[in-house]
Amino acid sequence: MATFVIVGAGLAGAKAAQTLREEGFDGEIVLIGAETERPYERPPLSKGYLQGKSEREKIFVHATGWYAEHDIDLRLGLRATRLDLGSRTVRLSDGSRQPYQKLLIATGSSPRRLPGPARYLRTVQDSEALKERFARGGRVLVVGAGWIGLETTAAARAAGCQVTIVEPEPTPLHRVLGPELGEVFANVHRRNGVDLRLGTPVAEITQTGVRLSSGERLEADLVLVGIGATPDTGLAVDAGLDVADGILTDAALRTSDPDVYAAGDVAESFNPLYGRRLRVEHWANALNGGPAAARSMLGQDVAYDRVPYFFSDQFEIGMEFSGDIQGYDEVVFRGDVGELEFIAYWLRDGRVVAGMNVNVWDVVGDIQDLIRSGVKVDSQELSSGHR
Ligand SMILES: Cc1cc2nc3c(=O)[nH]c(=O)nc-3n(C[C@H](O)[C@H](O)[C@H](O)COP(=O)(O)OP(=O)(O)OC[C@H]3O[C@@H](n4cnc5c(N)ncnc54)[C@H](O)[C@@H]3O)c2cc1C
Repeated sequence: MATFVIVGAGLAGAKAAQTLREEGFDGEIVLIGAETERPYERPPLSKGYLQGKSEREKIFVHATGWYAEHDIDLRLGLRATRLDLGSRTVRLSDGSRQPYQKLLIATGSSPRRLPGPARYLRTVQDSEALKERFARGGRVLVVGAGWIGLETTAAARAAGCQVTIVEPEPTPLHRVLGPELGEVFANVHRRNGVDLRLGTPVAEITQTGVRLSSGERLEADLVLVGIGATPDTGLAVDAGLDVADGILTDAALRTSDPDVYAAGDVAESFNPLYGRRLRVEHWANALNGGPAAARSMLGQDVAYDRVPYFFSDQFEIGMEFSGDIQGYDEVVFRGDVGELEFIAYWLRDGRVVAGMNVNVWDVVGDIQDLIRSGVKVDSQELSSGHR
């Protein structure tokens, strides 16, 4: 009987296991997870769950009994410590060895760290500890105005904390959205009482807060660092697989070893739509990439060519983002930016490369069709809604 092993029991790993069974695979499936919780989704950890608005049970990918019911050998609290491509075995932290015919690496990513006493938000335990801390109020200092920093800020404000965000770039979300939209997010946060310190790097995290590179000290009861994540590529690097930023794969999510696949945050996969490799750290990429890798492991013809998709909630903003702004030369708005009800389109050479809908719904399909089509658009028509 064939054994398929999945390392990493997050969303990508759990969805891959589900797809293997749905596609009729009747061999052994071993799903190995370093965390002690069964696979769960991370987006609620900085949103509803952090704000105490959703139940714990809702974050999990499957019900408790689902793995046993589907004959999936879920092994939690166990790390894969070494991968031997020659003998097709994975060594585990309990000293055992697990052979495989096909292996999926779905190890995700970990928060980038800074020296000094600070908190990070990646796991359900991190979220629960923060929720408890926010409930006691006080001064929160957030390092980094990226998605996690901004969403956590909204939760801390909702709990009644004072919040200061320190960010070296001139606007929040500068790298992912550019300055035009970054400004929109800055205004919303300021309006909600957040002290935004932009263009200001943190030089040091201390016992009492942070020291900025200008020398100014900001006191805080809690420092939360949200400065991005690093893909967990260690197993792949040590085994000699091709790795750049993430584990390199072709469009079928196959790594440089034909029996090893990678999906989710850890994969840097060739996307035929973009004609280059992308590493996408988004929920939808784990949700869809895990199943795509599973089909590929079963020998099906897979070309993973999805448009990257992301969603976020912060204060009065509910939004979805599709695409990749790289190289854009124009931003076109449709709707009312002041009222926070609009669509922003990023254009490169007159073609839409990305779009974001803010408090406007059921338009993601249209935005992604426009991106996929690669057709030239007229900015006026795009802005007025006549296309
Ligand atoms: C707080 C937070 C909020 C987010 N909000 C959003 C959002 O609003 N929208 C959005 O699109 N995306 C969001 N994301 C990103 C999204 O959650 C990730 O893209 C997604 O979790 C990636 O799934 P994954 O399965 O690839 O990796 P992970 O979820 O990281 O799962 C990988 C698992 O593998 C385990 N592992 C690692 N190494 C080993 C090993 N050697 N052996 C065994 N197990 C191992 C890890 O412990 C982990 O449990 C958010 C992320 C965080 C942290």
